[in-house]
Amino acid sequence: MQRLNVKWIAVMLVLLLLQLAGCEGAVVPGEEVITRAEEGIIVVGAGAAGLAASIEAAKAGSTVLLLEKLPMAGGSMLCSGGTIYAAESPVQQREGVVDSAGALADFWLEEAQEMVDTDLVHLVAQHSGETIGWLEGLGAKFTLAAPLDADPFRRSHQLVGGRGAELVKILEGAAKDAGVEILLETRAQRLLTDAGGTVVGLEAVDKEGKTITYSAQAVVLATGGFDRNEELLAQYSPSALEIPINFGRVGNVGDGLIMAREVGADIVAVDGALGCRGVEKDMPYTHPLGALGLTPSLCVNSRGERFVCEDVDCSCFYRAMQEDGDSAFYTIFSAASYDPALEEALEKGLAYRGNTLGDLAAAAGIDKDGLEETVANYNRYVAQGQDAQFARDISSSLPTRDISSLLPIDAAPFYALRILPATRGTIGGPRINHQGQVIDTEGELIPGLYAAGEVANGQFFPGSCPATGTSLQYCLTLGRIAGKAAVGG
Ligand SMILES: Cc1cc2nc3c(=O)[nH]c(=O)nc-3n(C[C@H](O)[C@H](O)[C@H](O)COP(=O)(O)OP(=O)(O)OC[C@H]3O[C@@H](n4cnc5c(N)ncnc54)[C@H](O)[C@@H]3O)c2cc1C
Repeated sequence: MQRLNVKWIAVMLVLLLLQLAGCEGAVVPGEEVITRAEEGIIVVGAGAAGLAASIEAAKAGSTVLLLEKLPMAGGSMLCSGGTIYAAESPVQQREGVVDSAGALADFWLEEAQEMVDTDLVHLVAQHSGETIGWLEGLGAKFTLAAPLDADPFRRSHQLVGGRGAELVKILEGAAKDAGVEILLETRAQRLLTDAGGTVVGLEAVDKEGKTITYSAQAVVLATGGFDRNEELLAQYSPSALEIPINFGRVGNVGDGLIMAREVGADIVAVDGALGCRGVEKDMPYTHPLGALGLTPSLCVNSRGERFVCEDVDCSCFYRAMQEDGDSAFYTIFSAASYDPALEEALEKGLAYRGNTLGDLAAAAGIDKDGLEETVANYNRYVAQGQDAQFARDISSSLPTRDISSLLPIDAAPFYALRILPATRGTIGGPRINHQGQVIDTEGELIPGLYAAGEVANGQFFPGSCPATGTSLQYCLTLGRIAGKAAVGG
């Protein structure tokens, strides 16, 4: 308690000094300032990482204030598929899958080499199954999807009866039950430090535009990525600026990165993105046309060539598009696989139709000979039940595989839906240790400051995502670790 009082006095002194000095970013003279002396943890950002950190900090006995600048909690998880990658989970145990955290870490590290913090990757893998169990303890129920093309283990945990939005409800409910106070439409804008550089609170703006200063035992930044900040993208992840579709949420402007940088944090810059594919900007997967873009029917590039095993997960699909290097890709449908959502795509100029494959190729700008040859081969693979090119399991009827993927492309009219590389998250942010404590440019800890989730994923991802579900796993597990550490620290 004595320590908290000292912190509170320190934050008041800092505020007074800032006002006297008229520092940039300090409270405007005459503006109403409310001061709240918190005795516990402040978590900034109510996405996957922030909710997980808040629940764990509250369960560890701290009072927790969770600030969210948007009118609702959830962050990117709200529009996500809610897939979570994990090994040694209770779900795998129930379904008889023999797996190990070490094997998961090896898979995550396959293409990472020395680009990531390998111990951090192992740490997340070791806690991955436990995080699934933790979510089940909060009321979530998971099942396992089919294994990925790149990874033979069944590690894609899917929420039963819902997607990311349902997981948000579960986590938000659990946070409230644990006593977390959630303040929506409240934007943190600056960290407050004492003379020794310890973070002692923050300044935020509430929904009425009032500036509020909070003192705190520790601050956990869980503000997500910087997809919507072109300046930061140009500085830290320039190739992401070239990705045609950006699914990043409006709140992802890098506030946490900027606030951490202002107090001296070292920033890990990684040129890349958490990639996927999309049909149109801002079109969620819940929209029929957005969902159609994920159909694992025959996919070709503008040379008319197949470039990927179509039923790989979104992350692998994105990497295949990058490796191919073409600027246009198409999912091919025929009369048998027709979907009414194609009409909207045709109206918007996002799809093309032809009565022959030649007509379709001409309309879409695909190489005619290449398309005809690829379709003939594909139809032969479907008829034989064996994919000689990508060894795709054409006979599979596992739930994540769409029925249209099993149909030949053999009856007019033919359709080509244009699909493009998309991003659903950034990579890079403040450097952290394995407790989520933020590290400065001299390699020293910044006392009182933690970061978790996408805001601080630069030591985990080597410029792309190895498998869908890895980001939510990282955000939830690091959130849990940082929340607990902030209370004990
Ligand atoms: C369409 C889509 C689908 C996806 N599907 C999957 C999937 O199936 N599996 C998977 O693993 N990953 C998926 N991802 C990625 C994954 O959802 C994110 O990486 C993860 O949810 C990020 O969580 P986070 O808590 O770190 O950040 P966020 O979810 O971005 O949350 C950060 C929160 O902080 C708030 N905030 C920001 N600045 C401030 C501030 N100054 N003050 C207060 N609040 C602030 C934001 O408004 C936001 O609510 C998907 C992403 C998208 C966009």
